[in-house]
Amino acid sequence: MVTCTKCKKRDAVVDLGYTGSDLCSPCFIAYFEHRVFKTNREFKLIQHGDKIGVGVSGGKDSAALLFVLTKLTKHVGAQLIPILIDEGITGYRDKAAEKAQALCDKLGLTLHRLSYKKVFGISMDETVKKRDKVKWRGACSYCGVFRKHALNKAAFDLGCDKLAIGHNADDMAQTILMNFLKSEPARFMRFGAFSGITERDKFVMRIKPLMYVTERECAIYCTLRDLPFHLQECPYSSDSFRGELKDFLNSVEEKHPGSKFNIIKSFLSLKELMVAAPVSEKELKHCAKCGTPCSGENCKACLLTEELKNAPQGQLKNRK
Ligand code: SF4
Ligand code: ZN
Ligand code: ZN
Repeated sequence: MVTCTKCKKRDAVVDLGYTGSDLCSPCFIAYFEHRVFKTNREFKLIQHGDKIGVGVSGGKDSAALLFVLTKLTKHVGAQLIPILIDEGITGYRDKAAEKAQALCDKLGLTLHRLSYKKVFGISMDETVKKRDKVKWRGACSYCGVFRKHALNKAAFDLGCDKLAIGHNADDMAQTILMNFLKSEPARFMRFGAFSGITERDKFVMRIKPLMYVTERECAIYCTLRDLPFHLQECPYSSDSFRGELKDFLNSVEEKHPGSKFNIIKSFLSLKELMVAAPVSEKELKHCAKCGTPCSGENCKACLLTEELKNAPQGQLKNRK
């Protein structure tokens, strides 16, 4: 058995390849929480008096996020409001929601829920059935847009100052590469520890306190802290490009530990150096239907729900 590199007393349970250290359970927990606290200080994410919406799904990342934020906000003096978005995926989100509820009960927090059905008039189960008739987009193309919109709406309606989401270092590195490979500079400029369009009407700034901890570390943290979380994969998972990048980054990380963090750090340094303004505030409008800030006449969520309503059966071919 390897001894913990830090305390040199207990048996190590985690091998942190990129630091060259092996940590015991208490030392790993302290390390994980220190990383999140440090990210919070560095980017001034959560500050005294903030009302923070927290996106929870029942999965490991958001479970780790909510738990570590309860410690952080006690220290900083901020309020947490857990929010669960129910996509309407039978047998999946309902099961995960039970875990999210159990975690909130454990922490003494009230879980707020909002469903796609309520916001958009259509659940993901129904979206997939409609989408199957036209083979237009992958399920995640709808779901990602809907979730972002619904989370923002819930956080805004609950009067949150910021919305914390469970994006970890793996998600960050994948998104940076994806935006790069798809040549989407405007998205690039809006991406970071804070993301979104800056402070605007009806928009709640998203923050990513887990950006410097990996997916694996979130899972280990949840296990060592004995937090309830749901492991099952979504039956509609369709984002194959992200999946390919995930595999690619994992193989690079294995050979060159620390690569995921280096991608994030390089991106943030580059972003600082860029002179061009992100997306001019003047170019931004509000959706004519729902009032969400967007760059066109309607926001993406309204365009997609309209597309689903009007989709003629069997006319469009596979254009994912
Ligand atoms: Fe939605 Fe895709 Fe996530 Fe399933 S995998 S919950 S469809 S974004
Ligand atoms: Zn130790
Ligand atoms: Zn809209």
